[in-house]
Amino acid sequence: MLLDQLLSMIPSDTEELVRRTRDRFNPNIREAVRQETGLRFRPRSRAGDLAPAEAINVPVRLVAGLPVSLKKRDIEEKWRTAALLAPWRRTLEQLRDSSTTTADRVLVLMRDMESAEAQKRLKGCADLAEWLLQKVQGFDLAKWILEIKEDVLGVYRCDLSGKSPEDKLECHIELYWGVIGLVAQILGVSPEALTIVVLAHELGHAYTHRASDHDGRTWESVAFGKSELALIEGLAQYYAARTCERLIVSAPAAKGAYEELLKHQPEAYTKHIPWLKRHRPEEVRFALLVARREGETKLDRFETVLKDARWQLRGTEAAAAEKAEAEGSEE
Ligand SMILES: [Zn+2]
Repeated sequence: MLLDQLLSMIPSDTEELVRRTRDRFNPNIREAVRQETGLRFRPRSRAGDLAPAEAINVPVRLVAGLPVSLKKRDIEEKWRTAALLAPWRRTLEQLRDSSTTTADRVLVLMRDMESAEAQKRLKGCADLAEWLLQKVQGFDLAKWILEIKEDVLGVYRCDLSGKSPEDKLECHIELYWGVIGLVAQILGVSPEALTIVVLAHELGHAYTHRASDHDGRTWESVAFGKSELALIEGLAQYYAARTCERLIVSAPAAKGAYEELLKHQPEAYTKHIPWLKRHRPEEVRFALLVARREGETKLDRFETVLKDARWQLRGTEAAAAEKAEAEGSEE
């Protein structure tokens, strides 16, 4: 299978890089998501009071190979060459672009050597790069990998059937380090930066689902599982984006990796963009708390509450914000 072949070509230190990034940034990302959501992993005791510290463990495991959803798919034969070249696209672009600068350098040598021969050989390099780049045209491998409406770089696993009691749920996160390495290469970002984005997204799922608010409420598992996918993914994306912003000093590359990844993600993963632009974090948090309290929630409902939250929390200032938005959209 072509994807397996592509995975076997990623740099051999990728697993180690993803592991080290997880170990180093797991606490910082959790702290960022805690701060943003105001939610904590602390169950109620039998007596009804809340455990003081984070008591629920959501371990993060590294998994080799492809997630099941990707194992089932294969790339069409006509895109075979394009797919094989996709991870090297940046390298080929660099080769093509640098040959112009190199040509200028070669001219300097005119008096001392046969510069025509050098120019000819250099053109061969540039032609090869251009020829291979043309073969990548028309196929977006990152988009192809991400287009199924499921997390494929990592996944938050939890029993959402309602069969196990809420306080007995064992949930965990899996990071597909090979797919992270491959997609990082295609996007031209570091595997470390992409690991942070993926971990923040999956922890976004874990916190929105299982972490408690001040009253000890969580998102009941069956309702969480049945809520609209675009809302659940939108929330995880929102908290991933906010986390990258919070980690701008300790992990400055994460924000760029989030933005690059977003360009290739399907629509269900983009609903949070207006929430980031138009709303304050406390408004999103308010709408999240309402959704969790109401249970199974549609995206529309969440966005209605979000809009109301702006009016409730900002008062007359909300009218000015809406006017500015309306003017902005007319342009
Ligand atoms: Zn997700």
